[in-house]
Amino acid sequence: MAYQTPDLPYAYDALEPYIDQKTMELHHDKHHAGYTKKFNAAIEGTDLEKMPIEDIFRNVSRHPVAVRNHGGGHYNHSIFWTIMSPNGGGSPSGELKQAIERDFGSFDELKQLFAKAAAGRFGSGWAWLYLDTAGKLNICSTPNQDNPFMDVADCNAQKLLLGLDVWEHAYYLKYQNRRADYIDAFWNVVNWQEVARRFKD
Ligand code: MN
Repeated sequence: MAYQTPDLPYAYDALEPYIDQKTMELHHDKHHAGYTKKFNAAIEGTDLEKMPIEDIFRNVSRHPVAVRNHGGGHYNHSIFWTIMSPNGGGSPSGELKQAIERDFGSFDELKQLFAKAAAGRFGSGWAWLYLDTAGKLNICSTPNQDNPFMDVADCNAQKLLLGLDVWEHAYYLKYQNRRADYIDAFWNVVNWQEVARRFKD
């Protein structure tokens, strides 16, 4: 069974005004669908077809670069759509809030560190909030379509909680060169319920 590009869990215009409809259409239907298609092509007829994708990532340096780029692209975007919501924004609660205060001091501090990681990624990539292999919440950024499950990454996750796509295709139509404004706007659509579910899952 080949990988599928999951449907958006809301309408293309649902994240307006923070993320515009045209960007969402192109980003989901063209960019994400392209990664999925090319990932399927890269693993077709190989042992990787039956391997859980996280297991592929743990040894991704041993596989063709198309597996890393398009597998990461498919997987990262599949997370990205779900951690945003038209009913998003606000702040985390419950156990996630407690863990954030334990590991960052405050939610504001998390936001500052995350924004710094997202703004500081040179070129294309992602910023992540993740549970590291020591059980601590942490933040990092990865280049291109890498993620913290990959053996090539500088950071190692047991769970990915929140990811922000900072490729220009994610924001350029609305924000042009103003990546920092896109990062600021992102907090208005973060689906903290889904982030908390990923944390407890
Ligand atoms: Mn993207």
